[in-house]
Amino acid sequence: MAQIAPRIDAPSAAPIDLDGRWLIPGLWDQHVHLGQWVLRTARLDLGAVRSVAEACAAVRERLASTASAPVVAWGHRPATWSEQPTVAALDAVSDVVPIVLIAGDGHHGWLNTPALTLLGLPPREGVVSEGEWFDTYPRLAEVGLGGDDSPAAYRLAMEQLARLGIVGVVDLEFGSPVDAWAERAAAGADLLRVRTGAYPDFLDDYLAAGLRTGTPMPGCGPRQTFSVLKIISDGSLNTGTAWCCDPYRSGAGGPGGADGSHGAANYGASNYGASNYTVAELDDLVSRAVRNGVEVSTHAIGDAAVAQALDVHERWSAAGSIEHAQLVRRADLPRMARLGLRASVQPAHLLDDRDPTEQNWPDRAGRCFALRWMLDAGVLLALGSDAPVADLDPWLAMAAAVHRSADERAPWHGEQALTVSEALAASVDGQGTVHVGMRGDLVALDDSPFVAGSADSAEQARHLRSMRSALTVIDGQVAHTSV
Ligand SMILES: [Zn+2]
Repeated sequence: MAQIAPRIDAPSAAPIDLDGRWLIPGLWDQHVHLGQWVLRTARLDLGAVRSVAEACAAVRERLASTASAPVVAWGHRPATWSEQPTVAALDAVSDVVPIVLIAGDGHHGWLNTPALTLLGLPPREGVVSEGEWFDTYPRLAEVGLGGDDSPAAYRLAMEQLARLGIVGVVDLEFGSPVDAWAERAAAGADLLRVRTGAYPDFLDDYLAAGLRTGTPMPGCGPRQTFSVLKIISDGSLNTGTAWCCDPYRSGAGGPGGADGSHGAANYGASNYGASNYTVAELDDLVSRAVRNGVEVSTHAIGDAAVAQALDVHERWSAAGSIEHAQLVRRADLPRMARLGLRASVQPAHLLDDRDPTEQNWPDRAGRCFALRWMLDAGVLLALGSDAPVADLDPWLAMAAAVHRSADERAPWHGEQALTVSEALAASVDGQGTVHVGMRGDLVALDDSPFVAGSADSAEQARHLRSMRSALTVIDGQVAHTSV
């Protein structure tokens, strides 16, 4: 390790016996919304409950362990439960302490009477759903139920991430003021490497603070740096706003999927999605970033948005990345490679977007999450999660890239899958394999990440999802150890 990380004070560092474990470079997540992830980490996780009774039992346990502090939980998915959530069931757990259970898909809240009263909502039998819930959710913070995103909560989340083998994240949180990291770093939330992105509204503040790509954030050490200007150039598939070369649901027409679950008004044969910016606006933003030494990450989900992003990056020689690149034209990929732009992709989204894609882009599903084509064209792949949209877990991202199915179905366009080595290589921030001269960011695994002698992608994915770090070293210092 002394050779790998010249910054370690080798004589004083005690040797660590890894006892035959696997050593890989530290893992990165190249697209997260860290503040939202921290909030979620502090909430009770009900992702595994399968009934009203199980949910109530978990809440009862939480109340007992927190001296009856209000409970905010996240993750239950009752669509397939035999019994549906009721206010009465939660009131039976406590009719004094507010309880708010946020559904795993974010589309409803299951509240008890004290929580309904606190939020000024009328009494009811069941959950608060859709529009009423979307109006209610942002008000949780006003009544003290927003959750904890203090520096201490950041520190806790970072420790949990280090246990997965994560050494760094690219934080593209919305509305991040330029001085937010100073307070966190001062309070010890400086364990991981964090590259912060700024949105257009904040660019001037960041530039005024003297920041350019690679500069430490104000008040921070070298682990927390400014990285990119983030531009959201189009929308998303699920809202029918990703900008495409061909109309949505080409040839079929009509709103949404067969079950009406994706019935956004702007789906249909005349909708192409749209760019969020005019070309002049993009030129202004990108050129200003380049002039000031700032790289650019452009969110582009539809193929038309990807092509436009490549045009703008090329015109201004803007280094950086295309975020998502969910739907691409194959002919655009060699240009992405030539421009040296990273494809910052989130494989776990393909698990969720498989069915909406088949419903709305049935003619182009083979060009979605086209990871194999990207590698073939020489594009630099960088995996991420877009947490909290997907779990902040590189092993999940790798598993989805290797085995493109969340259920018993065969892989979805398996010809675009990655091998385990390729997925790993796309998760270590370009560090390749462990070698002399690399950063002192290392992870020791109890097990090989490869399943020997197996060509079964489902088995490989299951194995990847079981991986945890036995030892995480960041910049030559131990960030997590169970060795
Ligand atoms: Zn995002």
